[in-house]
This record gives sequence, C-alpha cells and structure tokens, in this order.
Amino acid sequence: MRLILMGPPGAGKGTQATFVADHFGIPAISTGDIFRANVSQGTPLGVEAKRYMDAGEYVPDEVTNSMVRNRIAEPDAEPGFLLDGYPRTVAQVHELDAMIEATGHRLDVVAVLTVNSEELVQRLLQRALTDGRADDTEDVIRRRQEVYLEQTAPLIDVYRERGLLVEVDGMGEVGEVTGRLFAALDQRSQS
Ligand code: AMP
Repeated sequence: MRLILMGPPGAGKGTQATFVADHFGIPAISTGDIFRANVSQGTPLGVEAKRYMDAGEYVPDEVTNSMVRNRIAEPDAEPGFLLDGYPRTVAQVHELDAMIEATGHRLDVVAVLTVNSEELVQRLLQRALTDGRADDTEDVIRRRQEVYLEQTAPLIDVYRERGLLVEVDGMGEVGEVTGRLFAALDQRSQS
C-alpha cells in the first residue's frame, strides 16, 4: 500500500497518519516530523529548513525531494508507506511519480481530509497551547493556510483526475475520523 494523506494544516493528518499506517502495517513518513527532528538535532538540513518553517513557507523542493527519496529507499518502506505532508507542490508530485516508478510500484490512493476553515484555526490555536510548535503562532498559521491554498490545494484536482482521490470528512472526534478513513481506504484497497 502506497498512500498519501493530504489536507490543510490542522486537518489532523499527523494524528490520523499513525493510525492508518499501523492499520496497513507500513511506516508513516512525515516530512514535517523529519524536518523538526533535524531542527532539534541542529543538522545542516535542520538549519536550512528552520528558516522556511518559522515563516510558514515551504522548504525548497530540492531539499525536500532528496530527503523523501532517501527515506522511502529505506528497507521498512519496501512493502509500502504513508506520506504525510508530501507532496505539497506540483513539482513534488512529479518527483514522487518518478521515485515510485523507479521502484516498479504505483501510488494506490490519495486521501484528503476536509475540515472547515474556522475549525482549522481553532485546532491550530489549541495545538499551540499543548505542543509548543514554533510555527503555531497566529501570523504563521495564517501564512501556512495561504501557502496551502496556493500551492497544495491544486494537487487535489491532479489526483482526482488520476482517479486516486478519496475525500474523507475530517470534522468531529479523532476516533470518528479514523473510522471513516479506515472504511474509505479498506474499500479502496479491496477494489
Ligand atoms: P507539517 O508538520 O507537515 O505541517 O510541516 C511543517 C513545515 O515543514 C511546513 O510548514 C514546511 O515549512 C515544512 N514542510 C513539510 N513538508 C514539506 C514539503 N513537502 N515541502 C516543503 N516544505 C515542507
């Protein structure tokens, strides 16, 4: 199973990614988590990425693409993987296509979590209180939503046209959303 979990910042991708990945026995690969681990370890990649993350901007494609290429080449990702937070630009879509094609596999499904914008901001402000992420300030939250709408939302149509898209209602309790995701993805993986 090779799948992408999409949705705007605050849609619950990170929370749901772990459940879905466990369900299918594949690793959840979050580019945001890999960047944050590099930032906290002070690696050159982390120093580079932090400049963009703190401003709510995307890290340049060449940095992000090679990081993902290396990660999905690791042995645990051989049976499949779930991508959380990648691809985020049309250029990354093409890079990912090439990466998967090179392994002789194909992308199975793209699940997008839909959540209304008022709820997104509320969730992110709540997360700011509990998780202490550097990019959860009000200005940066707003900028991340704008960047998502400009650069990432168009990917939904790209994957819809390929017949890979599954839209899942991301409103409500975590467990309810997980149930909807499992139902939609199980149906998809059996078809
Ligand atoms: P996330 O945890 O997915 O919200 O990602 C946090 C931040 O990491 C984003 O706001 C970007 O600055 C950066 N980032 C994560 N994934 C990508 C990506 N695919 N392309 C560019 N930047 C990314």
